[in-house]
Amino acid sequence: MCYDDRGVSCGDACIEGVPSHETNLSRVLTIAAYKPLCRCAIAIAGAGIAGAWLYRMLTSQGRTVDLYETERPKTACGIHSCAWGVGPGFSPRIERAGLDHDRYIINRVNRVFFRGRNVPAEIFLIDKPALIRDLIEGSEVLRTPIPAHSYDRILDCTGVARAYLPPAIGTDKVCTTVQYRMKIADAPDDQLHIRYGVFKGSWIFPLGNRTCHVGGGCLPDSGDNARAMLQRSGLLDADGQVNGHPGERLCGCTSALRLTGPVESQPHTVPTSEYGCPIWGVGESIGTVSPFTGEGITNALACAALYLCHESDPWAYTAAVLDTFSWITRERKILDARAAGRWFTPFPLKALRQNGRRMGIRFGFWDALAILHEVARY
Ligand SMILES: Cc1cc2nc3c(=O)[nH]c(=O)nc-3n(C[C@H](O)[C@H](O)[C@H](O)COP(=O)(O)OP(=O)(O)OC[C@H]3O[C@@H](n4cnc5c(N)ncnc54)[C@H](O)[C@@H]3O)c2cc1C
Repeated sequence: MCYDDRGVSCGDACIEGVPSHETNLSRVLTIAAYKPLCRCAIAIAGAGIAGAWLYRMLTSQGRTVDLYETERPKTACGIHSCAWGVGPGFSPRIERAGLDHDRYIINRVNRVFFRGRNVPAEIFLIDKPALIRDLIEGSEVLRTPIPAHSYDRILDCTGVARAYLPPAIGTDKVCTTVQYRMKIADAPDDQLHIRYGVFKGSWIFPLGNRTCHVGGGCLPDSGDNARAMLQRSGLLDADGQVNGHPGERLCGCTSALRLTGPVESQPHTVPTSEYGCPIWGVGESIGTVSPFTGEGITNALACAALYLCHESDPWAYTAAVLDTFSWITRERKILDARAAGRWFTPFPLKALRQNGRRMGIRFGFWDALAILHEVARY
C-alpha cells in the first residue's frame, strides 16, 4: 500500500509493495524483490531531524525500526551543529508527528536585518535538541555501526556524512561552518542578522533570553575560512563582541553543510549494498538544503514525508524529491552562474523572493536587488 503526504493510503491494491498503477516491467520486478514493507526490518542511520521524525512515524505504524547514531555527540547541545531557525513549514510536520509545535518554539522573529535593510519575516527559533529528544522518546539509540545482513532496508539519514549511500554523482559542495552560542547582556532578542554570499554566509540567530547563535560558513576551497570570514563580516569580532554588543561565549562547534542539491546528490536510493539490503537516503544526505540560506530543517522533514509517501517505489521517491526540491536546483544555478562571474537577469530576483518566503523572509523587490548586489560583493 502506498501513502500520500498526509499518511493516507492511496487506496490501490498493492502486491508485495508494488502499487497496482505501475506498468513498467523492470520497475515492477525490482520493486517486487522488496519484502512487503509492513514486514521489513528497517535501520535508520542518524538520529537528526529526518531520522528522528521517521523513527516516530514508522514506529507509530507498528513497524520494526532500529535507530543508530554516531558514538558520541561532538557538540555541547548533543545534536549536529545548527542555528535552530525555521520558517512556517515547520509546524505542520511537527503536528503530523503528534507533537505540539508551540512547545519547541523558543523565540519568534518578525524582522531580518541585512546590511541596514530591515525585511519583514516570520521565523521561529526552536529548541531542536528537545524536539529530537521527544521524537525518539522511548527508543534505544544504538551507537554502533549497522551490522551487515541484519535489516531489509537502511535509511541513510546521516546528513552531511552520507555514511551509507555511495558517493554522489555530482561534485559535492560541502561548506565548512563555525558557530558559537553567545550570551549578550544588552542585545535585542528580536533581531536576526544575515549576510549572504556565493556559497558562503554568516548569521546571528537570537534564541531569546539574551542568547544567540552566531556563525559563518564557506567552501573550504574558496581560499577563505569560516572563522575569519565571520570576523570580517563584523557579526562577531575577535574580542567576542556580537554586532557591537559585548558577549560571553557559552559553547562553540565546527561542522559542515551540504550545498550540493538533490540533482547532483543522486543516487537517492540503491537496490543492493554491502549491508545486504537496499539503502534509501533522506534529508541532507541527498542534498535537501537551500544553498543560499542554508535552510535544511523543514526540507529534511518534507523529504522524510516524501519517503513515507513513496517507500514502496524508489523511482517515484527520486522523482518526487527532484520535483519537490526543484527550487533548490534553480537556486544552485543562480549561485553557480554568479560564481562563474555571470550576472544578471531578472530571474534570480523572482527565485530569491520565492525562496526567501519558504524560510519565512518576505523580501520585497528592492530587498532582493540589494541582496543580489551583496552576494556579488561578499
Ligand atoms: C552551522 C549550521 C547551522 C544551520 N542552521 C540552520 C538553521 O538555522 N535552519 C535550518 O533550517 N537549517 C540549518 N542548518 C542545516 C540543518 O541543520 C540540516 O540541513 C538539517 O538538520 C538536516 O537534517 P538531517 O536529518 O538530514 O541531518 P542531521 O540533522 O544533520 O542529522 C544527521 C544525524 O546523523 C548522525 N550521523 C552522522 N554519521 C553517522 C553514522 N555514520 N552513523 C549514524 N549516525 C550518523 C549525526 O550525528 C546526526 O545526528 C544548519 C547547519 C549548520 C551546519
